Amino acid sequence: LFITFEGGEGVGKTTNIEYFKELMVQSGLDFVSTREPGGTPLAEEIRSLLLSTRDEAVCSNAELLLMFAARSQHLATVIEPALKQGVHVICDRFTDATYAYQGYGRKLGTERIAVLEGLVHGDRQPDLTIILDAPVEVGMGRARNRGELDRFEREDLEFFERVRKGYLARAKAAPDRYEIVDASLELDEVKQQVAEIFERRVVE
Ligand code: C5P
Ligand code: MG
Repeated sequence: LFITFEGGEGVGKTTNIEYFKELMVQSGLDFVSTREPGGTPLAEEIRSLLLSTRDEAVCSNAELLLMFAARSQHLATVIEPALKQGVHVICDRFTDATYAYQGYGRKLGTERIAVLEGLVHGDRQPDLTIILDAPVEVGMGRARNRGELDRFEREDLEFFERVRKGYLARAKAAPDRYEIVDASLELDEVKQQVAEIFERRVVE
């Protein structure tokens, strides 16, 4: 299975991915765990370019194309080879993040993203996408406690409201692929939801 995790800032993505991986290990499932943007040396370099703050304003199309450049490399060298060997792939963000952040957050719209998606991975889609969803204020409060903010984390509340809306719209349009977790609850309760999804969608 190709499994992706998505969500806005401070929703507990890292913690819950770690938990999900523990569940995979306990069940004896073979997997690779990776992230976007990044996951290969070249794509991680692109990630650094994308996340670092700089004096030069990054135009939204350049940002979008860099995301897909990184993704292309990641698919070719990590994701596709693993899936072809029958190894599960767990990925921290994928193209849904591009729809949410660049499409809705940056207001680029979904059309040009769909074109690039078709070009880069037309018939390869995640089998399962877990969206950790929480009100923007909750997540931002947590994210701001983490210290140094990257270029995206400096965006305003309206940007992240659009990102959240984007994710929820994606899930609504293709409900079979998505599982939405209420990430505003206490961590134990969030983990319970993740475990339930794991049992239902991965083990069974
Ligand atoms: O998941 P993580 O927080 O590590 O992602 C790094 C940053 O890249 C985040 O701030 C996220 O908002 C941003 N990002 C983005 N567009 C994507 C993927 C990630 O703006 N398509
Ligand atoms: Mg972050």
